[in-house]
Amino acid sequence: MKFGGSSLANTARIKNAARIVQRFLPENKMVVVASAMNNTTDQLVEIGELARKGENARVGKILSRIQTLHIKTARAASMKKTRRELLNLIDRLNMELEKTVEGISHLRELTPRSRDYLLSFGERLSTPILAAAIQNLGIKTRALTGAEAGITSDERFGEANPLAEVSYHEVRRRLEPMLSRSEIPVVTGFIAATVDGSITTLGRGGSDYTATLLGAALNTDEIWIWTDVDGLMTADPRIVKDARVLPTVSFGEALELSFFGAKMMHPRTMQPAEQRKIPVRIRNSSKLTLEGTLVSSEEIDNGGRVVKAVSMIRSVGIVTVQLALLGQGFVDKVVAEKDACIVAVVGSGMKGTPGVAARIFGAVARKKINVRIVAQGSSEYNVSFVVSEHEGPEAVRVLHDEFQLGPEHVWNC
Ligand code: ADP
Ligand code: ASP
Ligand code: MG
Repeated sequence: MKFGGSSLANTARIKNAARIVQRFLPENKMVVVASAMNNTTDQLVEIGELARKGENARVGKILSRIQTLHIKTARAASMKKTRRELLNLIDRLNMELEKTVEGISHLRELTPRSRDYLLSFGERLSTPILAAAIQNLGIKTRALTGAEAGITSDERFGEANPLAEVSYHEVRRRLEPMLSRSEIPVVTGFIAATVDGSITTLGRGGSDYTATLLGAALNTDEIWIWTDVDGLMTADPRIVKDARVLPTVSFGEALELSFFGAKMMHPRTMQPAEQRKIPVRIRNSSKLTLEGTLVSSEEIDNGGRVVKAVSMIRSVGIVTVQLALLGQGFVDKVVAEKDACIVAVVGSGMKGTPGVAARIFGAVARKKINVRIVAQGSSEYNVSFVVSEHEGPEAVRVLHDEFQLGPEHVWNC
């Protein structure tokens, strides 16, 4: 089970996550993966940028907000017996975080390696707190970093690639004995370490990826991702008010959706699960009665529909390289533009169905939205295009309507 940042945003949410573990524990053995609390990672990113510029007053403010949040939550989420030990650990991590930030601001240098080290504090702080809250319910737990759990990666700081074979072997070696002692490993999502022990991160949204890696290594029956929405939806509910939950999605579709920004999942999240054919459930941690979305290897008929969902990636740039003669190596002009976004229309039913692109671009054109770049994925599960950032949400809504993805239309998948 993996809990996202919103599912661990405060003491009440952490206690709720602990109760979910307790609720499903009797009939399951499980490994828990924790994200950073709420938007801690975003704040750490900001701290890094500000420290590099020497803006120490602003750094200090955000830093103390993070430190206080974790101290307060640790105090409230733990029981008396283990509180002192937990608070000592949080203090130590807070101090280490402070020193890291001081280093960046002295040197005015933020390398990919030091940035990963800085970002790792989000999950390193949240994980022992969640472990303590679960322990509070009388369940044995052990908090571990990704590296302690056995996840080893290459040195591509910022977007590290896990070394699958060695990681799978180490994860089994380290976690299986805990599981057989009925001790729940609570593992930091998002972070791993190189062979020589330097902390790396798997890329933003990487906690879901940690969960599928651990699931694949241990060959679990299922991987559950608890989040703040009812499942994978036909569009981001913040953009389309009547977006609907997709009860079933294939790995291929989930991959395209995550690649194009849906649920802010790391694009490689589904890979380990797909390779081992382990179903992934995406569920709302506030609504346990809902089944959420089941992602599996089954290609389920989409009730005759070609499109399943529309997603969007914000804040992308366009680099236009103008050549003289194609293939001759003469670059005439290079132009960079900001403020664009990618909109993607996804669905396995699109494969081999004529006329989908015409409907997409017809609908967008009727709203007078200018399309800058067009691409079709090799899987033929998606058509994506680039528009100005401010027109992106409107393009998503138009296409959601065009392909009748809202709840007023009958679905039978
Ligand atoms: P977590 O903290 O649980 O990892 P994220 O913030 O990373 O959650 O992702 C969940 C958010 O993704 C939702 O709150 C929702 O606004 C957004 N989102 C974007 N596209 C989709 C989609 N197609 N289905 C569901 N959620 C989506
Ligand atoms: N905390 C990390 C992030 O915000 C990883 C995650 O939440 O999945 O990107
Ligand atoms: Mg996330």
